[in-house]
Amino acid sequence: MYKLIDGKKISAQIKDECREKAARLNEQGIKITLAVIQVGNDPASSVYVSNKKKGCEYIGIQSLSYELPEDTSEEELLALVRKLNEDKNVNGILVQLPLPGHICEDKVIRTIDSHKDVDGFHPESVGALCIGQLGFVSCTPAGIIQLLRRSGIDIAGKECVVLGRSNIVGKPMALLLLRENATVTVAHSQTKNLKEVTRRADILIVAVGKSQMITKDYVKEGAVVIDVGIHRNAANQLSGDVNFEDVAPVCSAITPVPGGVGPMTIAMLMHNCVESASRS
Ligand code: NDP
Repeated sequence: MYKLIDGKKISAQIKDECREKAARLNEQGIKITLAVIQVGNDPASSVYVSNKKKGCEYIGIQSLSYELPEDTSEEELLALVRKLNEDKNVNGILVQLPLPGHICEDKVIRTIDSHKDVDGFHPESVGALCIGQLGFVSCTPAGIIQLLRRSGIDIAGKECVVLGRSNIVGKPMALLLLRENATVTVAHSQTKNLKEVTRRADILIVAVGKSQMITKDYVKEGAVVIDVGIHRNAANQLSGDVNFEDVAPVCSAITPVPGGVGPMTIAMLMHNCVESASRS
């Protein structure tokens, strides 16, 4: 019988810990402020932004909201980021991605002060993770480490396969698992004999962006499976990158979608904001 890894419960624990830390900082006269910038009104982005604001409210973080029109120029956006970099009252800056096509995301991310980069996307944050220095870690992979640890799953010495090599999930995930002393393989669209590779995994992290692609023939008996994918169908139902019904019976533990990795991303964002305020 597999164990269901409960992201709702674990993320609630983390948020409560953040709330306590935020209260202690408030007692010392330190207020925590997150600036959230959204350009345009992509519906999915609006949902994410609204959830982030709700998270801030719960923790006791002030959120400053910048809702800019779709035709905002790159220079206007960069000027706002620079202004927020200078503002001593702002601890974290979050620019909701994706940005409209006429704005270079890379340039915007590089412009954020790395000390306020609570999303962990700045090259300095990624570099710090790579060489084991202090910096902000991308929220989704950081959340997955918490899911594993808090579910009592040992990572050290395990064979971990990360399916996907994006800058936001796959690559930082691999680095974090390495930091936890796992033996790590990263698979992607050019990987040969993919099923053979994924079947080596004691812990399989799936961030492939293809609804229900992973069936039981990709999974070793007794493996732990973490499903990062989120897909919404025409009937508004959510699914992951893993075919849960097929895979769950062969696993020792698995995350559901929804209620697995998703809630952890916001919890870790809150964690990074509180961390930023306490560092400063
Ligand atoms: P990307 O599309 O950026 O990356 C997908 C990766 O999967 C790429 O490395 C790609 O390889 C690889 N890939 C694609 N097709 C195949 C295939 N058939 N076989 C093997 N590898 C393949 O996705 P993200 O990393 O941004 O996101 C992955 C999923 O996680 C998405 O469903 C996304 O919605 C979800 N997500 C969820 C979050 C959460 O909070 N729960 C946060 C972020 C993402 P290559 O590099 O060779 O192209």
